[in-house]
Amino acid sequence: MDYVSRQEKLQQTLDGERLDGFIVTHPQNLRYLCGYSGSSGLLLFLNGRRTFITDGRYTEQAREEVRGARVVIAKGLLLAEAARLLQAVKSARIGFEADHTTVEAAAALRKLLPRKVVCKPVSGLVMRQRIIKDADELRLIRTAVVIGAGAFERTLELVHPGVRESEIATQLEVAAHEAGAEAMSFETIVAAGKRSALPHGRASSEPLPRRGFVVIDAGVILRGYCSDMTRTVHVGRVGREERKWYEAVLEAQLAGIAAVKPGKTAGEVDQAARQALRRRKLDRFFTHSTGHGVGLEIHEPPRLGKGQQERLQPGMVVTIEPGIYVPGKGGIRIEDMVLVTASGCEVLTPVNKELIEI
Ligand code: ZN
Ligand code: ZN
Repeated sequence: MDYVSRQEKLQQTLDGERLDGFIVTHPQNLRYLCGYSGSSGLLLFLNGRRTFITDGRYTEQAREEVRGARVVIAKGLLLAEAARLLQAVKSARIGFEADHTTVEAAAALRKLLPRKVVCKPVSGLVMRQRIIKDADELRLIRTAVVIGAGAFERTLELVHPGVRESEIATQLEVAAHEAGAEAMSFETIVAAGKRSALPHGRASSEPLPRRGFVVIDAGVILRGYCSDMTRTVHVGRVGREERKWYEAVLEAQLAGIAAVKPGKTAGEVDQAARQALRRRKLDRFFTHSTGHGVGLEIHEPPRLGKGQQERLQPGMVVTIEPGIYVPGKGGIRIEDMVLVTASGCEVLTPVNKELIEI
């Protein structure tokens, strides 16, 4: 990972914003900018230099991981240590992460800082950079996707009427860990039969019914990077209407993927998937947005939702995951991760999407 280039790029943004300094505390932003993966840290950009501040519990970790910044171990609060470093400047405009700083912390910071230092909440500066994945990030994301897909395929053998949803989730997680995942990127969803109509049905202790859809949505984390994938299978023979529903969702998912191109807006991709379901008169059962960015966090910009104006650019990684949820009957969702390329997109998720009857 080329942390120094990332820091230099952010420095250019700070110069453009006429900020003399910037305080980063959001864990994923710290990891992105300097490699630190601990839970307590602060990266201070000040007049073109970087100082990383943590407390005594993380001395070893910071020395091992942090790149491109001087490491300082604070005795008290990290913010107080940052303020101490800022005492030396005569006057400055210092930004802090508006999206990740509590009102309390912002007030404390203002109190600690010298009067001539202006504290400015700024939104999304690091995220704007993280939204385009570099080659190192793409390598990890691709591997995470393959691990997640492999874990799903190994778990399919277990999917039978009578097996508990939670057993399937556990098996999938074991398979992911055996393949090298460090953690799951969110609580694994296994929702069968009527429960599949819950878009976020966490695996329960319910056994799978004799007939019905089973939605399995899971993701892994590999060196900080997340994967995200959903497949819906059917236990028992699928009825005519249910098969039509499945085909409609698959059509919508393919329409969404076909719409992913640089220059298109996130809203246009959402619209493409939604329209496919409208043609089958099923769009009223599609109750969430079509997808989201994925990277160090499981939900990142861009959000592929109604009316979203963000334009897609090469290097963005997003999910395409339309679904329908018919109350009392069941639900279907199909989710892939795709990389926006110079000419369109590349589907990263390798698993087949034809309906599997078990
Ligand atoms: Zn998912
Ligand atoms: Zn997702």
